[in-house]
Amino acid sequence: QSSIKFSHLIQSDSMPMFQITNQILKNTGLIQSTVSACFDLTNLNNLARSHRQTLSIKTARFEHTFLLQLLCFPVHVHHVCIKSHQIFTHTMASSGSPLTIGIIGFGNFGQFLAKRFISQGHTVIGQSRSDYSSVASSLGAHYTTSLSSLFTEFAPLQILILSTSIMSTSSIIASLPSHVFPPSLLIIDVLSVKTYPKSLLIKHLPRTTDILCTHPMFGPESGKLSWTNLPFVYEKVRITNDTICEQFLDIFRNEGCSLVEMTCEDHDKYAASTQFVTHTTGRMLEQLEVRSTPINTKGFESLLDVVDTTTKDSFDLYYGLYKYNPNAEKELEKMEAALKSIRKKLENYEN
Ligand code: NAP
Repeated sequence: QSSIKFSHLIQSDSMPMFQITNQILKNTGLIQSTVSACFDLTNLNNLARSHRQTLSIKTARFEHTFLLQLLCFPVHVHHVCIKSHQIFTHTMASSGSPLTIGIIGFGNFGQFLAKRFISQGHTVIGQSRSDYSSVASSLGAHYTTSLSSLFTEFAPLQILILSTSIMSTSSIIASLPSHVFPPSLLIIDVLSVKTYPKSLLIKHLPRTTDILCTHPMFGPESGKLSWTNLPFVYEKVRITNDTICEQFLDIFRNEGCSLVEMTCEDHDKYAASTQFVTHTTGRMLEQLEVRSTPINTKGFESLLDVVDTTTKDSFDLYYGLYKYNPNAEKELEKMEAALKSIRKKLENYEN
């Protein structure tokens, strides 16, 4: 049995206490899964809310004693973790006040991002064609289907994220109401291809708008439990307000992502020979209708995983990887040629 103490609890409506605690526990690296821990901490949190005093609560879940000091929350979150009589001190989420972030395209990926942004105390306003108002409210986000009201009905946005399909990028960027943009707005795209949005954003956005092109190399499947060590690629295309930009990047640093600064052009070269090849393999195996059997090998299980993760993404996304990455067509040709070459090798092996 271990005990958990909360002291200096400061109430925040913008971020439930258990989420930040969950985050801290994850960052310590002391426990791998916080799903059940989260359940316990929800109860602790409720207790903490009602008593608003230092609590010492016993729980069988943890093998370690944690002393969590949440000071000036959410601007500064310090915690001290006591493990085997050693004390580790961490500071997280200490870089500036919460951001106001708009997300255009509140589908699969937009919601996935929103959840983490909110868990770090930021305000999110989602916008999409479909009515996602109930899912938005369950996440703690604001929501609108109107693009213009994103700029008129809410607190001025500091960041606007484009999380729409690759296919719709051109029309979305062309329809942005740049005349109502707040000064030095930072526009960030998260598209899985990079040179395409980069050139469109440079072409269409006013010079006063900052541009950050990014590609989180993970999604709702691969980043379901944790973002630790997952790559996050970015290029600072036009940044005048580096503080806001760095504060945004801190969200991913705080989650333990591995940040990779790289030009959009280099990204597309690497992504064609890795991500596009993976997606094409998954789609091809799906066409073969591969199914689990009673005698699966480990290798075959891995292939089933590839089918599962790649086909969960929309075909729009896959088509975008092909159509809007200038290197994808060449990779497809190489894959076809490789299959032919292997077949020839098999046929001629004994000759
Ligand atoms: P997606 O199929 O690529 O995009 C779906 C989103 O695009 C929805 O929000 C949808 O809005 C919107 N959309 C589609 N067509 C539109 C149109 N004509 N006009 C306005 N909005 C339109 O699926 P996704 O997985 O959510 O990906 C979103 C973006 O994130 C993509 O650019 C993708 O490359 C990038 N990304 C995805 C992942 C991933 O793992 N899924 C990882 C990294 C980056 P409605 O739902 O309202 O129709």
